[in-house]
Amino acid sequence: MSSMSSTPTAARTPVVVSLPSAAMWLVGTAVLAVLAYYFIGVDQGMTSVFGNNTVIHEFVHDARHFLGFPCH
Ligand SMILES: [Zn+2]
Repeated sequence: MSSMSSTPTAARTPVVVSLPSAAMWLVGTAVLAVLAYYFIGVDQGMTSVFGNNTVIHEFVHDARHFLGFPCH
């Protein structure tokens, strides 16, 4: 014989997001992702973001390999 637990549980409230707000967050996230992708891929070593060095290239080196950019 099973008995139902009668302990009160907190009611779950759904997250209500309006369509324009959801679209704004989706577009903003996509723009940031594209900017991050460009930032990781643009620094090839000979064309550098911050002058004639490979600081950014070395900093994002593993991410470059993970994303398939040619390297060495
Ligand atoms: Zn490499």
